[in-house]
Amino acid sequence: MRPTGKLHLGHLVGALQNWVALQEPYDCFYFVADWHALTTDYAETSPLTQYAYDNAIDWIAAGLDPERSTFFVQSMVPEHAELYLLLAMTTPVSWLERVPTYKEQQDALADKDLSSIGFLSYPLLQTSDVAIYDGNFVPVGDDQVAHLELAREVVRRFNRFYGNVLVEPQPLLTKMSRLPGLDGGKKMSKSLGNTILLSEDAESVKRKVRSMYTDPKRIRPDVPGTVEGNPVFLYHDVFNPDAAEVDDLKARYRAGKVGDVEVKDKLAKALNAALEPMRERRQELASRPE
Ligand code: AMP
Repeated sequence: MRPTGKLHLGHLVGALQNWVALQEPYDCFYFVADWHALTTDYAETSPLTQYAYDNAIDWIAAGLDPERSTFFVQSMVPEHAELYLLLAMTTPVSWLERVPTYKEQQDALADKDLSSIGFLSYPLLQTSDVAIYDGNFVPVGDDQVAHLELAREVVRRFNRFYGNVLVEPQPLLTKMSRLPGLDGGKKMSKSLGNTILLSEDAESVKRKVRSMYTDPKRIRPDVPGTVEGNPVFLYHDVFNPDAAEVDDLKARYRAGKVGDVEVKDKLAKALNAALEPMRERRQELASRPE
C-alpha cells in the first residue's frame, strides 16, 4: 500500500479485510510502498513518513498481525531497486506503454507531470516487489490484473535468458474490488473527496453518512424509493451484519414507509460498530509509535 494518505473504508473492504483472511492459509508479505508513492508524489515528499506510520497502524488496527505476517518498508530493502534495475534491462518500453492504467492515470492526475521514467515503469517495480520473494499470488482488485499480466511476461522473458530464476505470480482476486464513494461515484478515493476514513470519529461518520447520496427521485419519505444501485443500501449490504434490519429497511424504502434519516442513522451505527474496535487499537498503538 502506498503511503499517500490516511486509509478509508475502500481500503478496508477492498484490501485489508482480505489481507487479514490471507494470513491464515498463506505466508504473507505486506509493505509500505514508499518508492511507489514517489512515482506520483515526488514533488512533495514531507508527509510520506507520517503516512507510513498511519498506514501501518491502520493495518494492525484492522487485524493484520506483524508477528504472523512480514511487514516492511520498501525503501529499507534496497534489493527491490536492484532487481528492478535488472528487469529493466530485458523489458521493452512498449510493454509498459501499453499497460491501460498508464494513460488512464496520466489523464486522471492531469495536475501532475507524470511523464517520468519512474511513473512509466512502476509496474516493473511491482514485478520486482513480488518476484524478489518468489511470490506465487498477489491479492489485487480487477484494476491491477493488467499489471500482473505484465509481471508474468517480464518474468518469462527474464527466465528465457537466465534460466528458471523467477516465479510467475498469479492474481488472487478481491471480491469487493471497488467500494463506491459517498457521492455514489464509481470509487471511494481520497482524490475525489468522497471518503470515510478508518480513523474518523463517530460523530463525523454520522455526519458524512447523513450527507450520502440516495435515490434522487425520492423527494419525500412517503415516495417509494429504489434500493438497487443506491449507495446507502449498498453500504448496508457491506457493513451492516444485521440482515433482518437491512431487509426491513429495504422493504419499507420500496414501499415509501421510511425516511432517509432512519436508513442513514442505522447505517452510521453499523459503521461505527465496525470501526470502534479499530479506534481503540489505533489509539493504543499511536501512543507508542516505536
Ligand atoms: P491506493 O490507495 O489507491 O493505492 O489503493 C491501495 C489498495 O486499496 C489497492 O489494493 C486498492 O485496490 C484498494 N482500494 C483503494 N480504494 C478502494 C475502493 N474504493 N474500493 C476497493 N478497494 C480500494
